[in-house]
Amino acid sequence: MIKKHQVTGRIYTAVCVDTSCTLGVCAERNAMFNMITNGENAIRRVLALMPDGKAGVPCGACREFMTQLMARRV
Ligand SMILES: [Zn+2]
Repeated sequence: MIKKHQVTGRIYTAVCVDTSCTLGVCAERNAMFNMITNGENAIRRVLALMPDGKAGVPCGACREFMTQLMARRV
């Protein structure tokens, strides 16, 4: 059983789902949704890779969501 805010070290991946309206979702949030679907609730780090293989900067919505899931240090 995973405790609240416990980081397991598992890696979750996802893709960006782009749509012609605003209902798509970034890969970062999609990966975090995948993590939550698998019973976890805390992240240590997020790596966003762009189509050219270089690191990208997450959008504001993803950064806000990340702050809600960052592991608490006690
Ligand atoms: Zn985003």
